[in-house]
Amino acid sequence: MRIDIITIFPDYFAPLDLSLIGKARTSGLLDVRLHDLRSWTHDRHNTVDDTPYGGGPGMVMKPEPWGEALDAVTGNAPSVPRLILPTPSGAPFTQADASRLAREPWLVFACGRYEGIDSRVAADAAERMPVEEVSIGDYVLNGGESATLVMVEAVSRLLPGVLGNAESVAQDSFAPGAMDNLVEGPVYTKPAVWRDREVPPVLLSGDHGAVDRWRRDEALRKTARNRPDLLRRLTSEDLDQHDRQV
Ligand code: SAM
Repeated sequence: MRIDIITIFPDYFAPLDLSLIGKARTSGLLDVRLHDLRSWTHDRHNTVDDTPYGGGPGMVMKPEPWGEALDAVTGNAPSVPRLILPTPSGAPFTQADASRLAREPWLVFACGRYEGIDSRVAADAAERMPVEEVSIGDYVLNGGESATLVMVEAVSRLLPGVLGNAESVAQDSFAPGAMDNLVEGPVYTKPAVWRDREVPPVLLSGDHGAVDRWRRDEALRKTARNRPDLLRRLTSEDLDQHDRQV
C-alpha cells in the first residue's frame, strides 16, 4: 500500500520508522511518502495560512499550496488515490473504516492546522478522487498529524504480513465477526500468581472450549461496563443462549 502524507510538520511522522510499521516500510509492504506543504508556497515566508473570511479568531489554511500539493502528489499517477482529510467535524473513524481503507492501494492524508483547510480544497479534489472527512474522536487536536498517525497505524496493521500473528487481529476489540461491537476482555501472562493475584483458573485448564466461553463472557462484561453504547447495538442474532445470562 502507498500512503502519502502532506503536512507542515514532516518530522512529526518519525514514529513511522519504528516497530512493526517501520519494518513494513523497510520490507516494502508499506510505501509511506512525506511531503512538506511549504514546498508549494512561493513567498519569502512560506505562508500557508490567512485570516478567515467572515471574521473570527484564528487562521485558515490557504487553498493555493494545498491545491498545488495535491496536484503534484496525485496528478501524474496512472491510478487515483483516496484522499483522507482528518477533521473533528468528519465522520467517526472506526475499525470497520480501518479494514475498508486497508483494502485501498493508495491513500493520501492532508493534515490541517489552525482552524482547518479552506473548504474549496476538498471540493476541488473531489472532482478527481474520492474524498473523506474523518474524525478520530470527539475532541479537538492542534493538527491533523496525530490523527493521521492514528489512522495510518490502525490501517497498516491490517495489511497482510504486517503483524507477526494475523490471528490476533480477529480476536481484537471491534474485529469483524465475533467481536463486532465488543471490546476484548482481560488478558494475562506468566506467572500464574503475582502479588497474591491469581490468573483465572479456566485459563490454565487446557479446555479450549471453556477458555473461548470465558473470553466471550468477559468481553460482554467489559463492553457492558465501559461501552454500553456498543452493547445496545448487538442484535438478538449476535447473542447466543449463554450470552443472555451474562
Ligand atoms: N476549527 C476546527 C473545528 O472546530 O472543527 C478545528 C481545527 S483543529 C484546531 C486543526 C486541525 O486538527 C484540523 O484541521 C484537523 O486536521 C485536526 N484535528 C483536530 N481534531 C481532530 C479530530 N478529532 N480528528 C481528526 N483531526 C482532527
